[in-house]
Amino acid sequence: MTTITRPKHHDDLIAHLRESATLGSVCGLLGWDQETYMPDGGADARAEQSSLLAGIAHERATSERLGALIAACEGDAELTGDPETAAELREVRRSYDLATKLPGDLVREMAESGSKAQQAWKKARENDDFKAFEPWLAKMIDLARRKAACYGTPEGGEAYDALLDEYEPGAKAAEIEAVFTPLGARLSAFIKDLADHGTPPSDAPLNVKVPEAAQHAFGLEVLGAMGFDLDAGRLDTTAHPFCSGFAPGDTRLTTRYRDERFTDALYGTMHEGGHGLYEQGLPKDTKFGSPLASSISLGIHESQSRMWENFVGRSRQFWVWAKPIADRHFEGALDAWSVDDMTKAVNTAKPSFIRVEADEATYNLHVMLRFGIERALLRGDLEASDVPNAWNGRFEELFGTTPPDNRRGCLQDVHWSFGLIGYFPTYTLGNLYAAQLWETILDEVPDLESKMERGEFADLLAWLRDKIHTHGMRYRAGELCEMITGKPLGPDPLLRHLERRIRPAYGL
Ligand code: ZN
Repeated sequence: MTTITRPKHHDDLIAHLRESATLGSVCGLLGWDQETYMPDGGADARAEQSSLLAGIAHERATSERLGALIAACEGDAELTGDPETAAELREVRRSYDLATKLPGDLVREMAESGSKAQQAWKKARENDDFKAFEPWLAKMIDLARRKAACYGTPEGGEAYDALLDEYEPGAKAAEIEAVFTPLGARLSAFIKDLADHGTPPSDAPLNVKVPEAAQHAFGLEVLGAMGFDLDAGRLDTTAHPFCSGFAPGDTRLTTRYRDERFTDALYGTMHEGGHGLYEQGLPKDTKFGSPLASSISLGIHESQSRMWENFVGRSRQFWVWAKPIADRHFEGALDAWSVDDMTKAVNTAKPSFIRVEADEATYNLHVMLRFGIERALLRGDLEASDVPNAWNGRFEELFGTTPPDNRRGCLQDVHWSFGLIGYFPTYTLGNLYAAQLWETILDEVPDLESKMERGEFADLLAWLRDKIHTHGMRYRAGELCEMITGKPLGPDPLLRHLERRIRPAYGL
């Protein structure tokens, strides 16, 4: 608790931020509605509503008044002398700079070219025609380079860091590479070892038909046990699942159901539930709008979702508890299978060409592949025309095989077509943070594994609240990780976790 008296410029700043966040929550609600219940006929009006609000939000985020309030607070030694307020101001400054450093004509050019490039990408992927997309990719790379130049290279860093900073504040590409390189080499060797010496587990327990209503009821029971507050949140259905924690007391989760593979919805729900628990744990009741009530970074957000999805949800302990519950909801569909069968079936590691179809282990290799190429593009070591060869060569190194065409290679993902460069590494950072935190959790939460067998997750959630959620953006991700685990982020915990889980599933 801080005891300093708040001067008027700080009160005004906080009031401005809270109003902006409230406006953001209206945009969030419109976006959620669009992805869940909006009739198709509402699309045009929704686009108009969203773009009007986005314009107002941008004006507020870049206003001179906001700039003056930030400067007044930064010049106030009493405020900057308080560590919590200093962290708050550091992040407010960062957001303001991100919002104001890009000239309007560049923003417009990015939006226009992005939507045209996306159309071109769609066709090029359908026809497996990289040449048709190449000029658009070149354009989007040029725009990304110009955007990075506007942000400016952070001290001791490189152009890529400027783009990465939007998603993972303070992270450096070189530091990520230092973790990714050994992780990639050892993961590749691990996956080859499984393929050469292991017996893949049967996925038959997952190929059972379960009606959507039963899956939904099961998902809600799991969410309730995780500690997700359904009086302050909802679970709905959508095409591309997401979590939106837009206001105090209102966090929306979405998932999707496939009759013939219930684990898609289960793990989707647990994943978004992990994001949702983080959102519900942020101190929004008192600090909504302040960085002290915002998530640290995409990497830390993803660490929360991956932890519940993978470290909890794919464990034997989870299935000891969850199998009888699934049996109750699924009316005997899983009768032929044991807890061990379930656990093995959800712990596979098999190379695939397509990232979104990858398992917990190989997914990270897909991320590393993209990270390496994006970074080389930003440095100017690669150009658009080099991408297919660079992709296939690196794929061969990581997976021991080459994509048969560009459709299943460098053309598979939409992101580059709208200039989204710099955020892929946050997925693997999430897995790395989750693994490193998990080892500390097992040390610090007594009997967690036996509690998980009884569906008791309250102590785990209390630990996450206390160590991570309650701080908002007070600390940077790497700093918080080191504070909690005593070590900088490294590859070993994730490798240990994957080996411990997946080897037994392959009979090794
Ligand atoms: Zn996620």
